[in-house]
Amino acid sequence: MHFHVITIFPEVCTAYTSASVLGRAQKTDKGKGAKVRGKKISVSYYNPRDFTTNKHKTVDERPYGGGPGMVMMAEPILKAWEKAVGGKTAARRAGRIKTLLMSPRGTVFTNTLAKKWADKYEHVVLISGRYEGIDARVKEILQAEEVSVGEYVLTGGELPALTIIDSISRQVPGVLGTFESLEDERVTNGVTYTRPEVFVHKKKKYTVPEVLVNGNHAEIEKWRTG
Ligand code: SAH
Repeated sequence: MHFHVITIFPEVCTAYTSASVLGRAQKTDKGKGAKVRGKKISVSYYNPRDFTTNKHKTVDERPYGGGPGMVMMAEPILKAWEKAVGGKTAARRAGRIKTLLMSPRGTVFTNTLAKKWADKYEHVVLISGRYEGIDARVKEILQAEEVSVGEYVLTGGELPALTIIDSISRQVPGVLGTFESLEDERVTNGVTYTRPEVFVHKKKKYTVPEVLVNGNHAEIEKWRTG
């Protein structure tokens, strides 16, 4: 799975996508037990500023019809998109490219969508807005789908793009270890404990439930999933 993020703040995103599970998924896995070898995902960034033609590298302009704020211009974003997936003709013909536009008014993103898109697509392009949003012609030209990460408004589409990348990646075979993926599939009570068995806080004792320490695996399973 290849992710292509179009953003004027790539540095905000790179620390997140190069750490932990996502970071590991971008490296070649030579581990003995690795079920899926090689890189599982790639994440590339495209800054619309690099695709501007004016001296000041301006990416935004005032909105037609007036009103507050600035609007991101179509051209630098379209050029960034071309650079990202414009040459992937085979993938495009096979319908394996999905373009998402981060928007507080879009389809609300869910784990079900993450699973569906992980199966269906090879390239996911995520366009992050800033300011008042993006010139509407970008959506029209790229036939992009507007996606929201929830019923609240953020200052930019970077966190939504990272959220979506993280969630889709978890559904890509081999990104999670076998154990982690089993944990993901299971519906549990979500209650977990680690050491110490008795934790003292402000003179009060907080103890791990007896069932988790008695070694009866059937009972533990029942407690977790019951
Ligand atoms: N008044 C504007 C607000 C834009 S917020 C509007 O109604 O669209 C700036 C950018 O942040 C948006 O273009 C979008 O890319 C991103 N964004 C903000 N909240 C979001 C959310 N809940 N889900 C996805 N993207 C969001």
